[in-house]
Amino acid sequence: MAMERRERGPQGERGDKRPYQKKKVCRFCKNRGLTIDYKDAKALRPYITERGRIVPRRISGTCAKHQRVVSTAIKRARNLAIVPFTATSI
Ligand SMILES: [Zn+2]
Repeated sequence: MAMERRERGPQGERGDKRPYQKKKVCRFCKNRGLTIDYKDAKALRPYITERGRIVPRRISGTCAKHQRVVSTAIKRARNLAIVPFTATSI
C-alpha cells in the first residue's frame, strides 16, 4: 500500500498529527459537585505529572478559572508535602 497523505490543508489543520485526542472538557465545570481540595492528594493526582509538575491547561483541558484553583491547590499541597515539588531520584 502506498504512503497515504492526509487530505487536509497545507499547514496541517487541528488534530492532524495527534494520534488521539483526550476529551477536552473541564472536569470541574462539567461536574459541579467536584471541588478542588489541597488536602486531597488523590484529587490532585491527574493534574501533576510523574515528575511533579503541574499539567498545563492545554493538556488537561481544564478551564482558566479552574486551572488557577488547581495550581493554587497544588502549590499549597507542595508546602505541606502532600504532593512533590519534583520527583526524587533514588
Ligand atoms: Zn472549569
